[in-house]
Amino acid sequence: MSLKAMAQEKVERAGISNYSFDHDVLVMCGVRYTLEACTCGEPDCDGVRLRKSPKVIGRVLQ
Ligand SMILES: [Zn+2]
Repeated sequence: MSLKAMAQEKVERAGISNYSFDHDVLVMCGVRYTLEACTCGEPDCDGVRLRKSPKVIGRVLQ
């Protein structure tokens, strides 16, 4: 399964339906998350980690 498919499953399991994908970037509430494979090996791990894209960090709100 692709990272994208795993991320989609993770988000939907969390009850979030308001999201979209911009290529391989997950966008939720205007925040972009890059997808990373998770290798922690926890039995309940869904194999994907969402990392807030640094592109939006530091955005100035005035
Ligand atoms: Zn994990």
